[in-house]
Amino acid sequence: MSTKRDCYEVLGVAKTASVDEIKKAYRKLAMKYHPDRNPGDKEAEAKFKEATEAYEVLSNPEKRKLYDQGGGWDAFEHGFGGAGGGGMNMNDARSIFEALFGGLGGMGGGGGFGGFSEFFTGGGRGRARDPNGPEEGGDARIEMELSFEEAVFGVHKEFRVTLGADCPECNGTGASSGSKREPCPDCHGTGQRVTSNGFFQVRQPCARCHGTGQFIRHPCRRCGGTGRVRSPSTIGINIPAGLDDGSQLRLPGKGEAGYRGGPAGDLYLVIRVRPSEIFERDGLDIHCMVPIPFHIAANGGSVNVPTLRGDVPLAIPPGTTHGRTFPLRGLGVVDKRHNRTGDHIVHVAIETPTGLSKNSRDLLAAFGASINESNQPALARLRRQAEAFQKRRADLEAKAR
Ligand SMILES: [Zn+2]
Ligand SMILES: [Zn+2]
Repeated sequence: MSTKRDCYEVLGVAKTASVDEIKKAYRKLAMKYHPDRNPGDKEAEAKFKEATEAYEVLSNPEKRKLYDQGGGWDAFEHGFGGAGGGGMNMNDARSIFEALFGGLGGMGGGGGFGGFSEFFTGGGRGRARDPNGPEEGGDARIEMELSFEEAVFGVHKEFRVTLGADCPECNGTGASSGSKREPCPDCHGTGQRVTSNGFFQVRQPCARCHGTGQFIRHPCRRCGGTGRVRSPSTIGINIPAGLDDGSQLRLPGKGEAGYRGGPAGDLYLVIRVRPSEIFERDGLDIHCMVPIPFHIAANGGSVNVPTLRGDVPLAIPPGTTHGRTFPLRGLGVVDKRHNRTGDHIVHVAIETPTGLSKNSRDLLAAFGASINESNQPALARLRRQAEAFQKRRADLEAKAR
């Protein structure tokens, strides 16, 4: 019995899945686990190979039929050497993936958390139909960390990104002046050589043109014939007020430069907001814990509470209990883009006075002597409930005897 996982299970598709569905499912997994995205991650590597192997079987009608009829992988292990045992090697898996999707393309990776992480992407959105013609650049994504205040009030930011761009020397053709890209003579421009490796037909990238299908007689010295260079640039942007953690800003045309004069992709800024020491943000609402003196909580009075736009007086009614909230309408975050404003919500905390003078302690002792149960309703309630509890317990014990 083969110990390999079921092909359908690996790709997460139904037994009745169409070739298109299989391809989509494979692409998703391969993008996620591609070794270039997960350097040194053995588990990702195994998953990438596993998905590629499953795809290789299910995308081929004959193999799929054999697999379905012959009870899975066992069908292959008894007749076809290549499919069993050790499974697919990494180079074959990469070749299959690249022949199918042309590499990782402009999917981008993730910028690191923490300010202006430099960042660059791989190839373009798709494969160029005309290898010498213009092609759109890929999208890029970076994370930008803002302070709490910057996110609330907006800020102008400048940051550096390093993205792929056409080589200025050869204008992205990869060919030195006077020469041109031409179809590779070895693979006739297909970029693939098909070889048989046991049961698997392996499409390997053409060794001469590295799978591009193109051949450059005199490669450009600056870019080594790739036509691309990594090009750093500085971008300035006005961050609008009111952005929250996780918001995304799209900068059209600021992504990776197009190929051979094609349009640039887009740049996505993913906003990360550092927390504030005093304010807690919940969407556009601001929460703030404000300690108030014990005597104001009892007698009532006015306290100044901090808000985003300065201190405002807050009337504390007599008998205010610990944890009570007071919403201050319209004093939260202003989101101009959607024309909405949040509230500022004060959470009252009653502060026990410390470091009291002898006189204050005497006053408090006299105060303590002056109050009774009716001045402490919560305590009185607890006493009643506890008494009732003990009575029920005594009843149970009486019944048990
Ligand atoms: Zn070739
Ligand atoms: Zn060049």
